[in-house]
Amino acid sequence: MKSLSNEKVFYAFSPNMTPQLVVEQNELFSLETCDCFSNQLSSNEDTIEKLNWDAINPATGPVFVEGVKPGDLVRVKIEKVELTGPTVMVTIPGAGRVQGLTKTTTHVSEIKEGKLIIKTEKGTLSFPIDPMVGVIGVAPEEGNIANGMPGNHGGNMDCKLIGEGTALYLRAAVPGALFGCGDIHSLMGDGEVLVCGGETPAKVTLTIAVANVENLPTPFIETEMLYATVASSANPEEAFQTAINEMFDFLTKVAGLEEGDAGRLMTLVGELKFCQVVNPDITVRFEFPKSVLKELGFEGL
Ligand code: CA
Ligand code: ZN
Repeated sequence: MKSLSNEKVFYAFSPNMTPQLVVEQNELFSLETCDCFSNQLSSNEDTIEKLNWDAINPATGPVFVEGVKPGDLVRVKIEKVELTGPTVMVTIPGAGRVQGLTKTTTHVSEIKEGKLIIKTEKGTLSFPIDPMVGVIGVAPEEGNIANGMPGNHGGNMDCKLIGEGTALYLRAAVPGALFGCGDIHSLMGDGEVLVCGGETPAKVTLTIAVANVENLPTPFIETEMLYATVASSANPEEAFQTAINEMFDFLTKVAGLEEGDAGRLMTLVGELKFCQVVNPDITVRFEFPKSVLKELGFEGL
């Protein structure tokens, strides 16, 4: 299997990136990823004062996918996410949305037998890991989009649905798509309120191929249980309105529902959720259960 080491990283999605790996469509390949601090923090004594901020949010890649043309819809399937190191978390007063913090700290936490071990002053807790990919995307048509930003190209969406078994649909803007990912979290709740999740180095195994689905809004997510639209904006209202509009478009134009049926089902069993509220633009998603569409005869993407 082709693989790219975590030394092959970039910090902004751009059409001018030089491909580091070339794969065929549907070919399994893997990317080794650093944590979002480029693995610079390895103990609790390594506080963010020592960070080189130019090396934040590395994505491994870019990967050129043979046969992908500008305008193509591509399906990125995450086959496996293996964590390859400990989890790092920082507190930074003034960053993120937890406003009562007064101290800058670093906590390095072990992962043992599939569980993240979190030491607190009141005792030690363990949580089953649920790895997700924070930064994942393709080159935009023009410009440089820093990896810290989410957008239509993907990027720093910090969406916890994007993990093992998930398919992410994106629109390629350049030949080969120029794909990359990084910023894996061992665990994160919706919102990512502290500014980081469980930041962890990893190895991500994927396939990418052109998908032929007319009118699919992007970014679009398919998991085992649900479909989700994803939208990012500096303006929360714009973000959630776009996610809702795009789910309505998906239900009516792709799944073929009548408009009132789509609206009624969206309000009954759809879920509007915050992915993250701490990046320069916030990211929200609208989830809809696949089982409901299946019952109405929609065969799937
Ligand atoms: Ca992130
Ligand atoms: Zn992260």
